[in-house]
Amino acid sequence: MGVTRRGFLKLTGAGAAGLALARFGIAPAPVAAYAAQLKIEGAKEFISICPFCSCGCNVLVHVRDGKIISVEGDPDFPISGGGLCAKGASLLSLHTSPQRLTKPLYRAPGATDWEEKDWDWMMERVARRIKDQRDKDFKATNAEGKVVNRVESMFHLGSSQVSNEEAAVLHQMVRAFGIVHFDHQARICHSPSVPALAECFGRGAMTNHYNDIGNADAILIMGSNCAEHHPMTFKWVIKAKEKGAVVMHVDPKFSRTSARSHFHVPIRSGTDIAFLGGMIKYILENKKYFAEYMLEYTNASFIVGEKYTFKDGMFSGFDPKKKKYDKSQWAFEKDSKGRVKRDRNLQHPRCVFNLLKEHYDRYDLDRVSQVTGVSKENLLRVYEAYCATGRPDKAGTIIYALGWTQHSVGVQNIRLSGLVQQLLGNIGIAGGGINALRGEPNVQGTTDHALLYGYLPGYHSTPTANYQTLGDYLKAYTPVTNDPMSINWWGNRPKYVVSLLKSWYGDNATKENDFCYSLVPKMDPGVDYSHLYIFDRMYKGEIKGGLCFGHNPCQSIPNIHKVRKAWDDLDWVVMGEVFHNETTDNWRRPGIDPKTVKTEVFLLPSAYRAEKDGTISNSGRWHMWHYKAAEPLGMSRNMGEMFVEIMNRVKALYAKEGGAFPEPILKADYPEAFDAEAVARRINGVFTTEVTVGKKTYKRGQLVPGFPHLKDDGSTTSMNWLYCGGYTEEEGNLAKRRDLTQTPMQARIGLYPGFAWAWPMNRRVLYNRASVDKNGKPFNPDKTVIAWQDGKWIGDVPDGGYPPMAQEGGKYPFIMTTEGHSQLFGPGREDGPFPEHYEPAETPLTKNPFSGQMHNPCMKVIESDVDKLAAHGDPRFPIVLTTYSLTEHWCSGSETRNAPPLLEAEPQQYVEMSHELAKEKGIQNGDVVIVESLRGKTEAVAMVTVRIRPFNVMGKTTHLVGMPFCFGWSKPKCGDSTNRVTVSIGDPNTTIPEYKACLVNLYKAEKVTEL
Ligand code: SF4
Repeated sequence: MGVTRRGFLKLTGAGAAGLALARFGIAPAPVAAYAAQLKIEGAKEFISICPFCSCGCNVLVHVRDGKIISVEGDPDFPISGGGLCAKGASLLSLHTSPQRLTKPLYRAPGATDWEEKDWDWMMERVARRIKDQRDKDFKATNAEGKVVNRVESMFHLGSSQVSNEEAAVLHQMVRAFGIVHFDHQARICHSPSVPALAECFGRGAMTNHYNDIGNADAILIMGSNCAEHHPMTFKWVIKAKEKGAVVMHVDPKFSRTSARSHFHVPIRSGTDIAFLGGMIKYILENKKYFAEYMLEYTNASFIVGEKYTFKDGMFSGFDPKKKKYDKSQWAFEKDSKGRVKRDRNLQHPRCVFNLLKEHYDRYDLDRVSQVTGVSKENLLRVYEAYCATGRPDKAGTIIYALGWTQHSVGVQNIRLSGLVQQLLGNIGIAGGGINALRGEPNVQGTTDHALLYGYLPGYHSTPTANYQTLGDYLKAYTPVTNDPMSINWWGNRPKYVVSLLKSWYGDNATKENDFCYSLVPKMDPGVDYSHLYIFDRMYKGEIKGGLCFGHNPCQSIPNIHKVRKAWDDLDWVVMGEVFHNETTDNWRRPGIDPKTVKTEVFLLPSAYRAEKDGTISNSGRWHMWHYKAAEPLGMSRNMGEMFVEIMNRVKALYAKEGGAFPEPILKADYPEAFDAEAVARRINGVFTTEVTVGKKTYKRGQLVPGFPHLKDDGSTTSMNWLYCGGYTEEEGNLAKRRDLTQTPMQARIGLYPGFAWAWPMNRRVLYNRASVDKNGKPFNPDKTVIAWQDGKWIGDVPDGGYPPMAQEGGKYPFIMTTEGHSQLFGPGREDGPFPEHYEPAETPLTKNPFSGQMHNPCMKVIESDVDKLAAHGDPRFPIVLTTYSLTEHWCSGSETRNAPPLLEAEPQQYVEMSHELAKEKGIQNGDVVIVESLRGKTEAVAMVTVRIRPFNVMGKTTHLVGMPFCFGWSKPKCGDSTNRVTVSIGDPNTTIPEYKACLVNLYKAEKVTEL
């Protein structure tokens, strides 16, 4: 085992003094060490995890007399080495804050204040509200008479703040109630990452992990300001830079990330596809691609069917009435054996390689420069530096975050980065990949556990009314290949879905009753149940009540006036929170008479991170355990306990009274009390009967050793197949591991396979079989991820244990795509098989220079909001607004605005603008200005800065301004939400709103008001 900090202390007997010395991962000054030692003398130490960004920094929590007295970075944590950013460093003040909610609070309809209640009263009434609503509005069938077993008038929102174990019991409860309006923060932060990356490679997750960024030779940071928003990530960017990597930052504004990069390239928000399309053209024209990789591992040689065309911005198969494509027109050509036809010489005019060339031929430097506002010199600077990695011995990584996702082309922004990486051979290798920097603390884990209407845990589509039997459903969603060299791992879907149903319904789920498939609520096909539509239906009075945990939608959803008004009209709402925020207190926001708001509000005080056990999954899929260090403050409880109690109280009511379709609730195999450790075992899954695999026999109740053992006959359970293998009989809960041991080969690339556990099967670099040639020899022996030696793989856990392609029994490396190849041409997304530049829904241009199609033809437009969309080049709103986070605040700021040190550093809403725009508008630095759009207006303090410069777009000056999205009215008096002005338009694949580009105007406020 590698020597951890604790191991070192034991060996040296250094005790508390040594502990203090090591705390920050550096040798602190003796005085500081002595002070730290005194502070924690006699204290117990626990490992917890920072509840903010997806780096998931481990922290040491010290507790004396049952109270948390110190929270500091954990020097054994391989990502941070003990460092913390400003938010992590404020955890003590957040945990002990006098602002914490410590008692259940009830607000009666029309009341002007909260009342304190006890838990029993609250839970009994919450259960009654849920049951009454469900009984009243339960729908057994839809308009076509198909069985759907759902309730539409009730919602659940949130939360990426919950642990994986809490998410698992929450998901089970929501489906049992029949709720379909079910969504959480992933929708509004990283929902495009899943369909984009899955379409390219087969899985929707960050391909590599944080430490691996240090292995890169070139780093393109685009749509992310990671130095400020994922600070510990940036440590690995700097490490790579120190080793000689070139670091480029392409982003609308100059930031700390730009300052530490070799160069910053400002770009007009919403034009990333034009920028990257130009890069594709550059790669193809200058033959910068890694030819062997592209030919063998991508679908460059696949032949596309004759029905596929692309003309003037539109792909074939578009239905203008439905605003949808018929994707069957983009299918590949197959031979008589049903295998995709290929032209390995890349000569066929319809092979993907030639279609790609043709598609991006229009993306020449002149046009790209005019649209993006990036000079030709800067374009070439990035293209040349980054594309130099298209060779076996070089690695380039791309880092992105919300700057790419929050657009009406969010999915295609990310898809296009996937095309670049495939051409350059940068997937599966150390220092390569696409590193999606996830947003909230456990948004990776809660997406895996699918707190989203469209998925069941483990990325299985939620059944629609079209699939009335399990057989029909599995047939529709289980891909088939006729190529014997393709592993087609999703062909195992039936095993994972049946194991999930067995987990949910236990012995009630049998083969004869389709494993209780009929108890799972069915959506209507083509209906969108995500945030924007939930609030639209709420606004129209169709949604009456619901649950909202660890989420602040009355601050964080675009077109917030409408959202807040919709929330006013709810009959009841149950919320679990650590602090008051704009949503909990919406009924008493400025300008509203509480007496006119009829909503009955149940506000449940939630435990904070260091007060509970459980796991989170960081962006790199590291599944890590955090320990309960102290009892929850006051009467607060962890959310897992709340969900389990709500479910069991509703269950008891149904058992006693009966009601609408009680079976999903009464037949659920649901815990009687919440125990994170027990739920972790359920997530992994157990055998339900005695099963023999090879020479080994497993007894009923024994843990399944990994998802290859899951079965579709009901003999196994697993609440999430991705996590199966993370909890074993032999080694216990692997998320708790702290082993820093590495082989010399693993140490060269910082793999840390013994630290915590990573899904799937502890694989640290996804698609790692593409890091070797057809014989299993590493393309870059200096940074080997895996290698085929003496008939077996060594290094990381191989992505599919089969031999390399050229060996007997060899298979293609991309095991999660149907045909075993990564996809340059992706026929499965709503808005085209190749990314195409379209202007944002609100644009200063009057014409799209790339085609006659101005916007994404499939983008989601909420009908009742159409009159809130500015016209192209609307002279009333000539300025582009983009939005972002801050180092000191996180997401809506509802937690961090309660930490005095963070508020002192970033105390108020502001709008960043160039000197040129400020001069044009007569605004001085520090003036209060009004920012206005067609949706509304908000106040902000002017920050006049050189960090934002005017763009030259199509020969005209275009101004861009930026505002943080972390401030709201509830506290302190620092300005209200930027979402007063943002636009409610969605990407067609996931309906993520276009927060990053809308049109506004601004002017100096004549008098400062509280808006
Ligand atoms: S916010 Fe992110 S980088 Fe900062 S301490 Fe927390 S996990 Fe680490």
